[in-house]
Amino acid sequence: MMESLADWRRSHYSREVNPDMNGEEILVMGWTHEIRDLGGIIFVLLRDRDGLVQVTAPSKKIDPGLFENLRKLKKESVIAVKGTVQESPKAPGGVELIPTDLRLLNQSQQPLPLDPTEKVRAEIDTRLDSRFLDLRKPSVSAIFKIKSTMLHSVRVFLEKNGYLEVNTPKLVASATEGGTELFPITYFEREAFLGQSPQLYKQTMMSAGFDKVYEIAPIFRAEEHDTLRHLNEVISIDMEASFHSDEDVMDVLEKLVVQAITDVTENCEEELKLLDKDLQIPETPFERIDYDDVIDLVNSKGVALEHGEDLSRAAEKAMGEAMDGYYFITGWPTEIKPFYVMANEETPEKSHAFDLMYKDLEISSGAMRVHQHDVLVEKISSKGLNPESFERYLAAFEYGMPPHAGWGLGAERFNMTLTGLNNIRETVLFPRDRRRLTP
Ligand code: ATP
Ligand code: MG
Repeated sequence: MMESLADWRRSHYSREVNPDMNGEEILVMGWTHEIRDLGGIIFVLLRDRDGLVQVTAPSKKIDPGLFENLRKLKKESVIAVKGTVQESPKAPGGVELIPTDLRLLNQSQQPLPLDPTEKVRAEIDTRLDSRFLDLRKPSVSAIFKIKSTMLHSVRVFLEKNGYLEVNTPKLVASATEGGTELFPITYFEREAFLGQSPQLYKQTMMSAGFDKVYEIAPIFRAEEHDTLRHLNEVISIDMEASFHSDEDVMDVLEKLVVQAITDVTENCEEELKLLDKDLQIPETPFERIDYDDVIDLVNSKGVALEHGEDLSRAAEKAMGEAMDGYYFITGWPTEIKPFYVMANEETPEKSHAFDLMYKDLEISSGAMRVHQHDVLVEKISSKGLNPESFERYLAAFEYGMPPHAGWGLGAERFNMTLTGLNNIRETVLFPRDRRRLTP
C-alpha cells in the first residue's frame, strides 16, 4: 500500500541544501524543471519557490524501479524526492541528491503552453495568458519577491514614523477630481464608481484627527491609452499628514524610497541578479527642479512646450535624458493641478504640488492641500465641478480641518525603477489593461 501523503513532509527548500549536509537524508518537493536522460544516468532538476536542486540518479547505484519512474517523469510535474545529499561542486548550490524514493504528486500535461526554463522567449501576451506557468520562471517570480519586500519595507517605515494604516471605500458615489477616468458600476438602483484615488477620504481623516495615515490599496483608472506605464488597476501607496507642508512630505517620501531601496538591495540579492539589475542606493536630498526650469530645459532640447502646459511624453523623455535617477519637480502651475492642491501664497499661479520622477517616469504626485472651506468651494467651482456633489467631503472642512499635505506613490511604477523593467504589465501578477480582463 502507498504511504499516506502526510508521511511525505518536506524537510528542506532547495536553497537550504548545502555541502555541509553531505550524507544527510532529506526530502524535497517541487516541479521537474528539466530532465536529462543520458541512458545510464538521469539528472532531474527539481525547482521550488527558492531555486533548483539537482537529483542525480546513476542506474548502477539506485533501485531499478525508481530509475524507471524517474525516466517516465514529464516536465513541470509535481514531485517529492527523498534522497541523500552528496557534495558536487558542479551542481547548483554545490550539492546533488542521490534519490532513494520518488513520489509523483501530479503529472503535467504536455506540450506546455510556454517554457518555464526561459530557453525560449515568449511574447508578453502569451506569457500573461498562461501566467501561472510564466510565474514559475525564477526571473519572473523575482519581480514579485522584490515587490513584496518593497511593500513590507514601506509599511515598516510608515508605521515606525507614526502613520496609521487605514482602509477607505473603493465603491464611491462621485469622482475624486471629476473627469472621465472613472469606471461606472451598478450599485443597486444607482450608478456608482470604482475609486480612482483615496484622496478625499485620506483628507477627511485629517479632519477626523488621525494626524498621519497611510493606505496601500488598488486604484482604478478608466484611461484608454495603451502605454508601457499605465494600467487600469494599480496599487497606490498613499499617505496624508496633518500640520505638514509639501516640503515635509517630500522629505518623508525621499526617506521612504531610500529605505525601500536599501531593504531590497539587502534582501533580494539573488532576485536582482536574476533580473540583471544593479540597484544603487540614491543620494539624498533628491534634486528639486522648478517646473519653469523644466519647461526651459525641455524647450532647449527641441520639445515645444509652453509655460503652463502639462508635461508631454516627449517632455518626460527629454527630462529622462537630462536627469539621472530620482528627482522632484516642484512649483507646478495651479491651473493644471487638481482643486485640492494649495496655491502659493505670494505667486498664486504656482502651487504647492510636486511630482517625484525617476528619469522619464512619474512615480508619485503630492502636494500641500487646501484646508480652508471657502477657498476649496471656490476652487471646485473654478474647475467646472459642482460643490454640491462634494457636500460630505466639504463638511469636513467646516469644523476644524488642520493644514495638511500628502502624496500617492504608484507601487508598480516604483517597482519598475527597482527591477529595471520598462513594461508595467510585468510588475503585476494579473494586469488589467484596455484589452485584458483575464486571467
Ligand atoms: P500620469 O500622468 O503618468 O498618467 P497621473 O499624474 O495621472 O499619472 P496621479 O493621479 O498623480 O497619476 O497618481 C499618483 C501616482 O499613481 C502616479 O504618479 C503613478 O505612480 C500612479 N498611477 C496613477 N495612474 C496610474 C496608471 N494608470 N497606471 C500606473 N500607475 C498609475
Ligand atoms: Mg500625477
